[in-house]
Order: sequence, then C-alpha cells, then structure tokens
Amino acid sequence: MFAEVIVDITHSDVDRIFEYSFEGCGIVPGSRVLVPFGRYSAEGVVIAVKDTSEFAPDKIKSIIKPLEDIPALTKETLELSEYVAKRCFVTRAAALRLFLPVGMRKGRVKEKVIKYAALKEGVNADEAVSTLKKNAVRQRDLIYYLAENGGEETAYLNSEFGSAAVHAAAAKGFIEFTAERRLRSPYSGLKAGGKKVELTSKQLAAIESVENTDKMTTLLFGVTGSGKTEVYLELISRAIAENKTAIMLVPEISLTPQMLKQLRARFGDQAAIMHSGLSAGERLDEWWRIRTGRAKIAIGARSAVFAPLENIGIIIIDEEHDGSYVSESAPRYVTAEVAKRRAAHYGAKLVLGSATPSVESYLKATEGEYNLAELPERINKKPLPDVEIADMRQEIRRGNNSPFSAALKSELSECLSRGEQAIIFLNQRGYSRTVICTECGHVQKCASCDVSLTYHKEDESLLCHYCGAKYKMITACTECGSPFIRYGGFGTERVVAELKKLFPQARILRMDRDTTSTKEGHYKILSMFAERKADILVGTQMIAKGHDFPAVTLVGILDADMSLHFADYRSGERTFQLITQVAGRSGRADSAGKVVLQTYSPENAVLRRAINYDYKGFFEHEISVRKATGFPPYTDIVRVLVASEDDECALSATKEMYERLNVIYKQNREKFAFFGCMKAPLKKLQNKFRYQVLMRIKDGEEIIAAAGAACAEVNRGKVFCYIEINPNNLT
Ligand code: ADP
Ligand code: ZN
Ligand code: ZN
Repeated sequence: MFAEVIVDITHSDVDRIFEYSFEGCGIVPGSRVLVPFGRYSAEGVVIAVKDTSEFAPDKIKSIIKPLEDIPALTKETLELSEYVAKRCFVTRAAALRLFLPVGMRKGRVKEKVIKYAALKEGVNADEAVSTLKKNAVRQRDLIYYLAENGGEETAYLNSEFGSAAVHAAAAKGFIEFTAERRLRSPYSGLKAGGKKVELTSKQLAAIESVENTDKMTTLLFGVTGSGKTEVYLELISRAIAENKTAIMLVPEISLTPQMLKQLRARFGDQAAIMHSGLSAGERLDEWWRIRTGRAKIAIGARSAVFAPLENIGIIIIDEEHDGSYVSESAPRYVTAEVAKRRAAHYGAKLVLGSATPSVESYLKATEGEYNLAELPERINKKPLPDVEIADMRQEIRRGNNSPFSAALKSELSECLSRGEQAIIFLNQRGYSRTVICTECGHVQKCASCDVSLTYHKEDESLLCHYCGAKYKMITACTECGSPFIRYGGFGTERVVAELKKLFPQARILRMDRDTTSTKEGHYKILSMFAERKADILVGTQMIAKGHDFPAVTLVGILDADMSLHFADYRSGERTFQLITQVAGRSGRADSAGKVVLQTYSPENAVLRRAINYDYKGFFEHEISVRKATGFPPYTDIVRVLVASEDDECALSATKEMYERLNVIYKQNREKFAFFGCMKAPLKKLQNKFRYQVLMRIKDGEEIIAAAGAACAEVNRGKVFCYIEINPNNLT
C-alpha cells in the first residue's frame, strides 16, 4: 500500500505531497506517521492511501511507523486543513499544525504518571481506625476519606492529611499505592459552582429561535447581562442530549474561573478546555479526551474551532465581534469562516453572540442571511447603568491635571464609602505612555521600531510595546543630556499610584499584560476581586469582557476616545463596543450601576450613541458611511505587506509587487474602491522597513487569489511579504 504524506516542515520548497509505502493496517488518511526524509526522519500526516504508485518501487521509501493508534485527523478535519491552506495562503503543513496540540508534534510531552492511594482490599475502615491511637486524628480522617471516596491522588492526600499520616497508614498496611496513567484534567480542582437557573421566557424563545430556524447561523444580540451564557449552556446541553458534540469559543480573556466553574458544574468531565494558559501536557491530554470521544464539548479561544470533534451539533462564538477571532499571525484564518464550514459539514447550528455585534454580522442579520435572536433586556429587567460624560477639556481648563475628573473622584469616594467595588478602565499599560525631554523635546524611541517607548516604573524600564524590547530607564536625555524628563500620558501603573494618593485606604488591584504574565496571574487577580479582597480594579481591555462582579457599581472609563482617532475605518465600531462592554460591568446585581466616561470630544456621535446603548442607531449611521465610502462589509480590504531589514530591498520588492498588482487593477478597475502603494503606518518594526500595497475590492475572490500567488513569489531572500484580508489593524 502507498500513502500520500504531508511532511511536517513548513518550508515552501517542501510544500508538496510525498509518497511512502507501508504494509498492514493501522495507517489511514489522518494518521500521523514517522517517515524517512532526506538523511533524517520527519513526522507527517497521511492525507490519502492507495494501492498503486506512479513512482518506481526502488524510489519509494517505507513509512517508519505510525505515531499514534488513532488517526489524529478525521476526513472532515483533513479537508478543512486543505481549505485553510488555500484560503490563508500557507503550506499544507502549516495548516495541519492548527489541528494538532502543541506537545503532540515531535513527541515533546511525556505521559504523566500520577500516584494514587486507596484502602487495601479487605480493610474495613472502622476496624482500622479502632486500632489507631486516640490522637491519630489525621490517620483516622484519611482512612474515612478513602473509605468514602474510593481512592485519591497521593499528592492531594499528602497536602490534606499530611504525608506523615499517609506514610503511617501505609506502614500499618491499611492503604496501598498504585501508579496509574491518567489524563491531566486541568481545573479539576475547581469546585463546581454556579446555581442552576430557571430560564426566562426570553431565553427560551432565543433557544427555540436557534433550533427552529432553517438558517444555519443565528446572531444572538443580547445586551450585557441579558443571560446569553445560560442560553449557550442550554443549547449545548440539548446537543449533548441528542448525542452530538459542541464547540464553545470565547475570547481568550473570558476564560475565567467563573466561566470554567459554570461549565464544570454543568458538564463535568464532558467538557474539555483548550487554552493557551494550560501546560503543553494538559493541552495534549484535553485534546485526546476530545479526539477519543470522552469529552464532547470543546471550550476555548479561537483555536478551539479546530477541536477534533466529530458529529458536531452546535458551535457557539461568544463576543463574536471580538478582534481576537481573527488570527494576527499566519495562518490568518477567520474563526467564523472556519466555524461555518464545520457547521455546514455536520448540519450543525452556529450561534454568534454579542451585545455589540460586528457591523458585518448585524448587516447579515438584517439582510436575512443570519437568523436574528434578541435579548433586549437584562435579567430581572435591571436597568443598564447610567452613563455620565465628563468633559476633560473643561477639567484641564479648571486646572485638573490628574487622570480623574471631579465627577469620577466624587463617585469613587461614594462608591468606596458604601463598601462597593469600582472598575477603572484605560487602554494603556505601564506608567507613562512616553518619556519626553523637557529641554529639547526628544521622545525616547525603540532602536528597532519607529515607535516611542513606554515607561514601566516597576522595573525602571522603557519597553517597546511592539517588539517587546526592554531598555533601562534613562536618567538623562539621550539627545542633549538634560536630566529633566517629563512623563507623557497615563498608564495603569500611574493610575494606581494616583488612586493610592487619593484613597489611601482603598485596596487596589491592577490587571494588564504585565500583572498577568504568569499562568495563573489573570485568575488570581479576578478571583481576588470577585472575593472582594480589593475595592478597585484598574485594568486594560482585559477587564472589559464577560466578567460578572455583582458588587461593582461604578465603572470609570478614563480615555474613552483614545481609539476614536485611529486612522482605521473600524475605530468608531471599536469605541462603541468597548464602551458598551466596559459599562456593562457595572450594576449587574441588586444595586444600580453608574458609569463615568471621560472624553475630550463629548459631542462625538459614536460616544453619544454608546452612552444611550443605541446600537441600532449606531449601526444605521455606520453602515451608511461604509456603503458611501466603499469600506467593509461592502468591500474587502486587502493589504500586501512587504518588509525587509534592507530598506532598498523592501522598496524594490514593493515596486515589483505594485507593478504586478497594477496589471490586475487595470483589468478590473470596476471592482476596486481603492488601489495604492505607500509606507506602512508603522514604518519600521523589529528592524524591518515596511511598505504596503493597499486595496479595497468588491467581489475580489480571484483578485485576492492572484495577489496571494504574487505574494508567495516576492516573498524570498531578504524580503518578507504577506497578504492580509480585512486585518484587525493596519499598523
Ligand atoms: P451576558 O452573557 O448576556 O452578559 P450573563 O449570562 O453573564 O449575561 O448573565 C448575567 C447574570 O444573570 C448572571 O449572573 C447569570 O447568572 C444571571 N442569569 C442568567 N440567566 C438567568 C435566569 N434565567 N434566572 C436568573 N438569573 C439568571
Ligand atoms: Zn533632550
Ligand atoms: Zn521595538
């Protein structure tokens, strides 16, 4: 027999099918195999098997061995990988990697053996305990615990009853140890929580709407706190009851202990978690639990859309508007597109949920491509919080240079004196956004990128937020030597410092990328805040999503318009979404909520609509602008980015690219809303000079394919070139 194999090497020269021979069974399409490759061996995935080969027998090498007993990919995921490779302009090997957990490739993760203890056969707990000394309470508790629970991890017993007690009980012959391979089950320590609720009639109507529509995709448009999560859980339950499987996708940030608890409570071990915060071993185990059908629900961030499930009944994408659903590095897949393909294959339902749907999705719902289900009210009809606008221009005129308006200060002080919690949001980590010399005006910049550096006071460093380069904080200007340095703009660190001055008694937590770099950092902060061990949570984007803190009655948005003035057609949409999401954190339980929104442009139409929660008004306005100006969803923005450490090379490659595309442009002028070539907004990144050919195209499938092919050819030597379709940001 012969197998067609994609070798796990993503170099474009290797991007073709290799044939190998094999004997016996156990190798089918989707199997991972070890094959001889050049002078070495390599891993690969079998994509087809056949009886004959066109190659001469002496030219064909044989497969060394299959790597697992079960094929890692199914027929469906194999096909999907082929689609992703084409759609995202990557090699088959690169596309296949999306379907395999890190740690599986190259056998990087060892199986984990866990030691177990149980009562020895024939040991009666009461009799055993009667032989113990009276003060041996820990041994007694241990024996009763094991009698009740059957068996337990030794590590757990040691921590709970003390290793001395465990040893003593073993020495007396009451308990015995076994070593057993067990799949790591992350978060199994999470106690099941979350009350089972009675669904409201609105929630039931939304569920029925999803089930009864003849459309595959439903947009669930529900305001923050309207109970969308319960709708998802019920839909998943129903799919499982029909013996089908489910995928639930959430933004990475929303994979909180709260959410995991709810899912554990509801589905126990049937749910598997795919999360970058897990160790490679845990990820591998969760992946196998899904692949072998022991777990029927895959929960995770965008990459969980590739979960190795079969017979899918429902796919849910929560916070569907979230930018994290579009991958920013190759393969640049769009999660919803992949989900649609999988749903179509299995005849499954796809639910896109949001309080602020993307303009694209809402348009599809109004045009009838998607079914629309709405949850227009919060559970128990709690009102959405009142939003007060603080005009920061006036604050400055009044001489207020602090990051807080008078209104926010007084609301904060009242909130704290009522013993309630507050959230302060701003989208800038670090201490100050820039460091400026007061003598010569020089701004400290990154040596490898064309961006200013952010001051991080905690470790006295200057950090480039684009490439991650870290420099020592300066004591004098690097241009003129002056020691007089000014901090420009506030970051989370500085806001915390200012809050401490204003409210010395308040307990403050900060959540941003710097405080959540460790595996559990993010959880620790959120659970401390949920347990009310802090009064104020200061944070970036991370705190905006999905969290449900009942005691929060005040939200302060410090820089509401920061994203408004980006030269990005989506900046209005982003601002609207962010404000709605952050505001939605306030007043979710019994007490009414309040939001103070600070801005330098209080008359801005987007802000006005956001504070009134007027999504439909915002949508009408936005979509008419997009239509008139030829922006998505009426066109696709296609960007070809050319970068090189050698500016000359970058320029000449850009020119070549431009000329190739110009030919296409001239033949298809009517499809173009824009065609042009320029420096990228971020002119230099990680020492590479960057240029772009920018296009806005209508019905441009073929043009995009041609551009992708041109890109692959220009991408060589010292030049790095890639294509992006409707990217999240155009830096
Ligand atoms: P959303 O995801 O729409 O923002 P959530 O699903 O977080 O909203 O629900 C908001 C709150 O309402 C949660 O505390 C949740 O437990 C509660 N909730 C949801 N559905 C019900 C219900 N049917 N009855 C009572 N409480 C509910
Ligand atoms: Zn200077
Ligand atoms: Zn940099």
